[in-house]
Amino acid sequence: MRIELDLQTVQGSIRDIPDFPKPGVVFKDITPLLADPAAFSTAVDAIVVSYGRGTIDKVVGIEARGFIIAAPVAYHFGAGFVPLRKVGKLPYDTISETYELEYGTETLEVHADAFEAGDRVLIVDDVLATGGTAKAACNLVEHSGATVAGLAFVIELEFLKGSAKLDGYDYMSLLQY
Ligand code: AMP
Repeated sequence: MRIELDLQTVQGSIRDIPDFPKPGVVFKDITPLLADPAAFSTAVDAIVVSYGRGTIDKVVGIEARGFIIAAPVAYHFGAGFVPLRKVGKLPYDTISETYELEYGTETLEVHADAFEAGDRVLIVDDVLATGGTAKAACNLVEHSGATVAGLAFVIELEFLKGSAKLDGYDYMSLLQY
């Protein structure tokens, strides 16, 4: 799903960093967006208005930039915030999901008691690239007995076709490249 809003301020505040963290990758740096009050609030509001208050019980943020967007989204919904973290970072019992990266694998974890059965969960991250991270997040939510109500991203790198991994899920992105 796409939404029609004035997102020029948001778009103008994203900085491309060529060859970071490795040659050939254009890194979408959202730190100027976060530092700009209008851009930050517009990005958060655009996600919030795409889902209704009362439709989301928990907002998941994916380490680390996802946390920064997800937390104010959760606050606006009156929902809880749940962090999905890289392996070994969470202090209590966890469940984990390992997924393929371009080179090697990555593991995400969530606390075993983070969700109530039937919780309606919105997953939030800064960038949808190949979709592996987002799909792993969906799996963690569902293995916890909760329901993925949707996913929201500030940026979607359409040429990497991450949306193909999110078939059947309701997802939105504010900006597409
Ligand atoms: P993927 O699993 O390939 O969809 O990658 C998504 C994760 O990697 C997100 O958590 C993003 O923060 C990060 N990521 C991937 N590609 C980029 C990029 N070009 N710029 C910034 N972050 C990226």
